[in-house]
Amino acid sequence: MKFDGKVALITGSSRGIGAETALKLAEEGADIVINYPFESEKDSAEEVVNKIIRTGRKAVMIEADVSVFQEAESLVKKAVEEFGRIDILVNNAGITRDNLLFRMKEEDWDAVINVNLKGVFNCTKAAAKYMLKQKSGKIINVSSVVGIMGNISQANYAASKAGVIGFTRSIAREFASRGITANAVAPGFIESDMTAVLSDKVKNEMLAAIPLQKFGSQRDVANLIAFLASPEADYINGQVINVDGGMVM
Ligand code: NAP
Repeated sequence: MKFDGKVALITGSSRGIGAETALKLAEEGADIVINYPFESEKDSAEEVVNKIIRTGRKAVMIEADVSVFQEAESLVKKAVEEFGRIDILVNNAGITRDNLLFRMKEEDWDAVINVNLKGVFNCTKAAAKYMLKQKSGKIINVSSVVGIMGNISQANYAASKAGVIGFTRSIAREFASRGITANAVAPGFIESDMTAVLSDKVKNEMLAAIPLQKFGSQRDVANLIAFLASPEADYINGQVINVDGGMVM
């Protein structure tokens, strides 16, 4: 299988795109580290671990808030203690705190930047230490089409996801000579808890802007991440690939 002997850490993988990505990588042979931020999410993380174990792969779950540097460091350290290495890092954890700029509170700005952007810095810095020693690794960061085109009521989220793109391209340059690639995926509208809360009006407006005339599935994103994590993507570096039904082109 594509990922035999490989270890993948997916942040924010107790549900949604992260959980689906974990499952997809396990189906293709990887051992998996599931991450969830708070004790309250333990049960859903456990469900994902059990699903992975049923595929015949190994999986562990580690609680860590990726926005806290020391927690991200300890997440990666525990993952390496468990499996001996780290081959694939998927920086997926993300949150939204939407509001028009005039109504957006400072804490809404900070929370989104801290999880979505600082979390990517924290986990990448921690994992790169091991990948540099191994002289191999695949880093896949989950951005968003909103980071490319902006969106009303999402100045904080758009800034964080645009930041992820700049960060990805910078580390893609820094690490390339050490056998590590870094790429970003930019999902469009994907059916998940994050988008379930949007009104029908917003959903219909989105749908009208998607040439394929349907929302994406979590598997659509997981498939792209798995491709970028595979040896088939060895010569792809520093790219941002949209998975959005043609919404942005
Ligand atoms: P989701 O269903 O809300 O899942 C987000 C995951 O991140 C959850 O497991 C959540 O844990 C975890 N998380 C939140 N804060 C965290 C923290 N501080 N540390 C560690 N984990 C944390 O969202 P999703 O739709 O699957 O989105 C996954 C990624 O795709 C995000 O980066 C999102 O911005 C991006 N994205 C999504 C869409 C879309 O249409 N859904 C489009 C573009 C980009 P809890 O369960 O404890 O909250």
